[in-house]
Amino acid sequence: MYQFNTKTFTAVDYMIHLKERAFRATDIVENTFNVIEELEQKLNCFTEITKEAALNAAKATDDRVKDHTFGEGKTLDGVPVAFKDNMNMLGTFTTCSSQMLKNYKSTYTATCVEDLLEEGALPIGKLNMDEFAFGSSTETSVFGPSKNPHDTSRVPGGSSGGSAAAVAAGYVPIALGSDTGGSIRQPASLCGIIGIKPTYGLVSRYGVVAFGSSLDQVGPFARTMADAALAMNSLCKKDPKDCTSQGSKTDFTTVIDGNVKGMKIGIVKSFLDAEGLTSEVKHKIEETAKVLEEAGAQIIEIELPNAKAAISAYYVLGPCEAFSNLARFDSVRYGYCDEGHADLASQYEASRKAGFGKEARRRIFLGSYLLSAGVYEQYYYPAQQVRTLITNDYKQAFEKVDCILAPASPRTAFKFGEISDPAQMYLSDMFTISINIAGNGGMSFPVGFGEDTNLPIGAQLIAPAFKDENMLRVASALEKHYGPAEIAEVK
Ligand code: GLN
Repeated sequence: MYQFNTKTFTAVDYMIHLKERAFRATDIVENTFNVIEELEQKLNCFTEITKEAALNAAKATDDRVKDHTFGEGKTLDGVPVAFKDNMNMLGTFTTCSSQMLKNYKSTYTATCVEDLLEEGALPIGKLNMDEFAFGSSTETSVFGPSKNPHDTSRVPGGSSGGSAAAVAAGYVPIALGSDTGGSIRQPASLCGIIGIKPTYGLVSRYGVVAFGSSLDQVGPFARTMADAALAMNSLCKKDPKDCTSQGSKTDFTTVIDGNVKGMKIGIVKSFLDAEGLTSEVKHKIEETAKVLEEAGAQIIEIELPNAKAAISAYYVLGPCEAFSNLARFDSVRYGYCDEGHADLASQYEASRKAGFGKEARRRIFLGSYLLSAGVYEQYYYPAQQVRTLITNDYKQAFEKVDCILAPASPRTAFKFGEISDPAQMYLSDMFTISINIAGNGGMSFPVGFGEDTNLPIGAQLIAPAFKDENMLRVASALEKHYGPAEIAEVK
């Protein structure tokens, strides 16, 4: 085997080297597993390694190299990738990091997974997450938390924390996550990498375990904009199996030229004055605005008057949808079964009690209460009205600007156990949730390290619905200035 250090390789690098026959795709898999072996005890990113599937895909890539058909019609030929463990992949466990699904083996493959595999990607494994994607730290995973590669005493963010940590540590250049309220952008920010939540409807969710069906969206993590654009091209397709998916005809690799001359970029004053935003994050976002101004963009102050109600609305709508979606895990059709009960009702009760962790149970109780007669009118209905107001705020803002710049997370990575109050944890997504509520595209781009904590900070870019190219273009200007994401040195 040809030995090399895969950590710094991007998807683009891999494909150039494969084409030049500098190494084989099977070498990539072996070397990737060496890196994982070296670091995984410290990081705990994976819930499962899929070496056989990776080697099979690598052999197919190597055959294409031999046949001189390498890369033909394939966007990610020979590129190692990994998937959040709420995404089905035939023959793997899809656990959602929950006791409830610990033994659930996928009988089919999610479209987003299929899309990358069809492009020639090598599936390295499934990635750790907060249980059923409820959380912002991966601390609710039944497999224990993943660690932030920049400081292993700190959280990687969540719920797609395993995905973000895997890319930040250099395991894989591209990983997939899902984002219902911030679960791609917040961990990307905390791990210092790129994370994209596309517009609701750009990417199929077929085969991804549902949390909040009107909010969930799948998206990629990467370290360079070139890789992120390739992943977006692979993912943004219309899928007849998910009727909300519309896909996109944009070739995202053509919009990342760093040119923002004449673009109008909004900054939200109330976001920058928000309680809970640390001064180092605020300073970084102000600095980012200056960088964009110097690159020729026009910075315009805007307001989103109803965005302050986003968290309250989300913690009504999210639990209601989660309560409905999680009803299927009843120990009969799906999920952990506590055997030996005399009647079905007690089997349900015991199985769901033992199968779901604390945060999942909290959301189920909340959702079931909020949807009950008499209560529904007081909470669910107004939350939907707030949703319309927030969506209109964004529509109005995007009449004035092409993209919005905001913090992704109010602070840098926190220590394990530091945030024990769930209501405090919910504030992790104070700048990301309104985007899911409105359905726009949002992403986090790493703009360096905080002056106080010396930990990564992400700038959030928000695009009008189905104009995700706007935020990718702005991010490419930031990449020109700040450079691509740094590989974390795991200590
Ligand atoms: N942190 C938020 C929550 O706990 C968002 C999670 C997500 O986007 N999946 O619900």
